[in-house]
Amino acid sequence: MKTDIVIVGAGPAGIFTALEMLRRGSKQRIVIVEKGKAIEKRSCPKQKTKRCMNCKPNCHITTGFSGAGAFSDGKLSLSYEVGGDLPSLIGEETAQSLIDYADSIYLEFGADTHIEGLENTEEVKAIRKRAIQAGLKLVDCPIRHLGTEKAQTLYYAIEQHLLEQGVEILFDCECETLLLDQEHGVCRGVVARQGAQELSIEAKHTIIATGRRGADWLEKLCAAYNIAHQPGTVDIGVRVEVRNEVMETVNRALYESKLIGYPKPFKNKVRTFCQNPGGFVSQENYDNNLAVVNGHSYKELKSDNTNLAILCSHNFSVPFNQPIEYAQKVGELTNMLANGHILVQRFGDILDGKRTWQKELARANLRPTLPDAVAGDITAAMPYRAMINIINFIQAVDQVVPGFAAYETLLYSPELKFYSNRIKMDEDFNTSVKGLHCLGDSSGWTRGLMMASVMGVQMGRILAKETDN
Ligand SMILES: Cc1cc2nc3c(=O)[nH]c(=O)nc-3n(C[C@H](O)[C@H](O)[C@H](O)COP(=O)(O)OP(=O)(O)OC[C@H]3O[C@@H](n4cnc5c(N)ncnc54)[C@H](O)[C@@H]3O)c2cc1C
Repeated sequence: MKTDIVIVGAGPAGIFTALEMLRRGSKQRIVIVEKGKAIEKRSCPKQKTKRCMNCKPNCHITTGFSGAGAFSDGKLSLSYEVGGDLPSLIGEETAQSLIDYADSIYLEFGADTHIEGLENTEEVKAIRKRAIQAGLKLVDCPIRHLGTEKAQTLYYAIEQHLLEQGVEILFDCECETLLLDQEHGVCRGVVARQGAQELSIEAKHTIIATGRRGADWLEKLCAAYNIAHQPGTVDIGVRVEVRNEVMETVNRALYESKLIGYPKPFKNKVRTFCQNPGGFVSQENYDNNLAVVNGHSYKELKSDNTNLAILCSHNFSVPFNQPIEYAQKVGELTNMLANGHILVQRFGDILDGKRTWQKELARANLRPTLPDAVAGDITAAMPYRAMINIINFIQAVDQVVPGFAAYETLLYSPELKFYSNRIKMDEDFNTSVKGLHCLGDSSGWTRGLMMASVMGVQMGRILAKETDN
């Protein structure tokens, strides 16, 4: 097969590349290779079975049209300060103007017009004052909240639009490797597999946008084909769950409180991430059976709890510099202790140096929203440095949100974010291999729906200009 543009991965980064090319009137042939299914065919059996069935060949939560975004609660962060380091590559002003533009596309396709966290009310001022006293930074970030159900409808509309406009999307089609002309340092497309059929897709431009799940695979390609990259950070942490009553002031005033701290004694950066008022803690399964915790919230269906992640960034240098492998080992060890499930422990038990027992979970005001999480001892698998960072950070947040460090507060583990391998690129997203561009979370430059979408928009503009001239 010959095409102008081949995009690997139909997550927000890949989708917005195609979308923007069409919006710019590009006549280039675009093929998207996606290892998962069309959005209308994605369904997680857990809704019926109440437990993760570890779907093969792919997890419906993280693969398929719209990528990891389909089943996420679709919180679009509307500030360049949130969502990854892309602004340092393309400039803060450009990033903000692209966010505003991408946001207008989400609105066109049906996103809710309401924005959370815009008002600088007395309540927000009081929260900021307490954050200052606790030594934490409160980041301003307006949020457009799609909600899990609405996100699926919205991405379905985008999928249909792309298909109607002639974009070819190959579902159940996994990219295996690149067609690389090593002598000239040029990428000439990809080799993919759809069932028993091997497809060789030649293209002028190859866009890799395989998301967090594709980060490992991309790292291997970098090593095999000498694609310039640098190890970035890896985030290790926990998902914290408390009753809505504890969080109600910040939930009302901010919807999402983005707090950053550098707790003693290590002074590493620790931050809150992905807060879900009335939300549900969820499990994701990565390839190689690694079970990690996440969280989401629905627009209509609400729980009594709020969950959020607390993440610590980890960097390495010599002699060891493989952050993904490091985080995977932490995850595997935690999974082992929970018999392949997610481990949950009460905060008070951690401070008391004891494991949590399943029966103790039923004694609290707070009931876990991830029912198959296994009570146990997170500290038996969490590295000392990360654990101390998390404990001290939770105690600082308690000054902003009284009750956050309560005995019954639940900590789920492992919460891991793999965005470590950062592809070296210029501001036009050219890698060290001609014709090859890497976008979104797998490129290491983004960490969220909006920033991945923005990177796609910018790529679409570059390609439309270059290839149609
Ligand atoms: C449960 C959950 C909740 C989240 N909530 C939020 C939120 O509220 N707000 C927010 O900003 N972000 C959220 N995120 C993160 C957000 O979904 C991602 O940052 C975003 O989707 C990244 O976009 P992407 O296009 O880079 O990659 P992805 O969305 O991961 O898409 C990559 C696509 O590539 C495909 N793929 C991978 N490898 C291959 C291959 N070899 N061949 C073919 N196809 C391949 C995958 O199937 C996938 O569809 C959440 C994520 C999860 C899992």
